[in-house]
Order: sequence, then C-alpha cells, then structure tokens
Amino acid sequence: MGQIQLTGLTKRFGDTVAVDDLSLDIDDEEFLVLVGPSGCGKSTTLRMLAGLETPTSGDIYIGGDHMNYRVPQNRDIAMVFQDYALYPHMTVRQNIRFGLEEEEGYTSAERDERVVEVAETLGIADLLDRKPDELSGGQQQRVALGRAIVRDPEVFLMDEPLSNLDAKLRAEMRTELQNLQDQLAVTTVYVTHNQTEAMTMADRIAVMDGGELQQVASPFECYHEPNNLFVAEFIGEPMINLVRGTRSETAFVGEHFSYPLDADVMESVGDREDLVLGIRPEDIAVVDATTDDTPADDAALGDHELRMDVTVVEPHGDQNVLHLSHPDQPSADDALQAVTEGMHLVTRGDRVTVTIPPDKIHVFDAETGTAVH
Ligand code: ATP
Repeated sequence: MGQIQLTGLTKRFGDTVAVDDLSLDIDDEEFLVLVGPSGCGKSTTLRMLAGLETPTSGDIYIGGDHMNYRVPQNRDIAMVFQDYALYPHMTVRQNIRFGLEEEEGYTSAERDERVVEVAETLGIADLLDRKPDELSGGQQQRVALGRAIVRDPEVFLMDEPLSNLDAKLRAEMRTELQNLQDQLAVTTVYVTHNQTEAMTMADRIAVMDGGELQQVASPFECYHEPNNLFVAEFIGEPMINLVRGTRSETAFVGEHFSYPLDADVMESVGDREDLVLGIRPEDIAVVDATTDDTPADDAALGDHELRMDVTVVEPHGDQNVLHLSHPDQPSADDALQAVTEGMHLVTRGDRVTVTIPPDKIHVFDAETGTAVH
C-alpha cells in the first residue's frame, strides 16, 4: 500500500530551515500536489521522501514502514524530475529498461515485454529504437515517465515534471498524467509552483511557505476556505482582492468604503480591531455601467454596493479583468479587480456599481493573517 505519513519532518541546512516540522498524511492512491513559492521547501520534502536527503528530525513512513534509514532503491518509489535525465547514448527502449535495472525477479524476456507494455501505455511504442535527441520535449517526458512506471512502484514522486514543456503540451500532459495516475492507481506526490497544475490535478493541495505547511485541503477548499492570507493570495488567478481596515460595531471600515458584516461574521471577528477583507475578483458583480461621471449619489447604493471607476479592461477571451478604483482616488490601496463575462460591455472610463455578495467575503485577522471567517 502506498500511503505516506510524515511526522514532524524537519530539514536544516546550516542556519536555513528548509522544512519545518511538517506533518502530513497522504492516502493510498491519492494525488497530492505540493505547492508554494520558490524556496518554500517543496523539493527538499520530496527529496527526503525519495531518500536523497536525510531528515534532521521527524519520521517518514511509506505503507506503514519506517523509511528514514532506507536507501532510495528500497523505498518502492519512482521519481520523475524536471530535467528528464535520460541517457543520451541509450535508445528509448534501453532508457525505459534501465528503470528495471535494480529490480529482481524478472527474466530478460520479461523485462523486454514490460518495456513494450509501458511504451504502449504511454503511446511511444513506435519510438523505442530512437535516441533521446531524436524526440520532442513531450516524447522525452513520456520516456522519463516510462522509466519511472516500468517498475510498478507504490509511490510516484514528481518534481516540476512539466515545466520544460510549452503551454499547449503542458496542458495535454496534465490530462495524460492524471489519466495515467488513475489507471495505475499509484500514490503520487507532485511538486510544482504552478497553481493551475495544482488546481487541476490534485486530489488535495498542500500549500507550503517558509518550510511550513499552511494548509492541506482539496483545491476547492483552498480556494473557497483559505486558512490564512498566504493561501488566499497564493491560490486563485487573478489574485484575491485584499483590503485593510478596522471594524466598527457592525461593519468593516476601509479607507474608502464601509462594508456591513452579518452578525455571525461579527461574532467570529470578536474583539479583533484590525482586519483584512478578502474578495475574489470572480465574486464581484458589476452592474449598471454608465459613462456618466456626475457625482455619485451614494445614498442610492445598496448596503453591499460600491460605486467605482473602470481604469483598465484586460480582455481574456471569454472573460474581462476590470481594474476598478474609487472615484477621485485612482491610486488608493483598496482599488479592486473584478472578473466579468467577455460579453459584458464595460469600457475604460465607465463608472460602475459593483456588488460584493456577503456570502462570498473572507475576513482575516490583519495581525496574524489567520482567516476568521
Ligand atoms: P524551488 O521552487 O525554487 O525549487 P523549493 O520550494 O523546492 O524551491 P527547496 O529547494 O526545497 O525549495 O529549498 C528550501 C530552502 O532550502 C531554500 O532556502 C534553499 O535555498 C535551501 N536549500 C535547499 N537545498 C539546500 C542545500 N543542499 N544546501 C543549502 N541550502 C539548501
């Protein structure tokens, strides 16, 4: 069984704490994506799992067995790296067969058969006699995968395996990798700093920052219920709008607008004074666009509505990203971005009314960054 358990896993390099007290359970056959900015400790975590780095403290279990002192060959894992590390002088057949080099219990004929079987699974059976320099990037990536899966391991470890491919191929390979993982039912730990990969491929995402685990949850939950400001900002494109302010008896009070908070939200806020209001650009509804820039009659606005000016319209095909500023305060920190359907006719210079639905807002403690609602 390929379930993985990490308990209090820590890795120091001199004064640098690359991974800090990481505890994480990964289910058998789960596709877990480790994400976070450069230097957050993703690769070091993966390398410890693989046996390429020794933990400073903490424990690693795979299938219930303690792994800390096991050499990589005895961990029943296979790794795929960003640089495919194929042997240039070997054919595709020999490169894939190399994955079986350390395996016992196969006759030579069985090894050959297994290589062909894997090549067929990956759609590269017709390339078996080519050398790596006669292959495209995507084909090389498949050979690297072939070398990993040929051993039928319990666990795949993948470190940015798609980052050398162009955007179109990357999207194709994402789907292929998911299908392959379904078909082979192998626990997979996949490292990337690309949040689209994380969102589209993961059963669960583990978000890291500064060596520490920030949240581990489904993509849906990381997006809709981020634990803290870091996760809220890291997940979601365009980035979540964050507005700093304080609380009054019944509302969030920003520099340029107040936003009423429901009683249950006020209860979660408790006696915190400094807050950050988070609103996903997709959750802002833009209504009532007009080119009329006569002074706004704010009294006519509903509780959850704001009057804003459109300063930039970024067309993205089926969607537009609007940059919105407060009338007469174009450079204010609490300017917002909103996503609208592409057919929505809004142009730069329009004055619009936007609605921020109360069930879509996030409220964070400004001091600790923790989500309070
Ligand atoms: P990236 O996305 O850039 O690959 P990462 O999240 O994978 O980053 P790691 O490579 O795990 O991050 O590095 C975590 C921290 O540990 C960084 O500060 C890095 O500089 C440091 N580090 C990693 N390997 C070593 C090493 N062999 N010696 C010293 N410091 C290291």
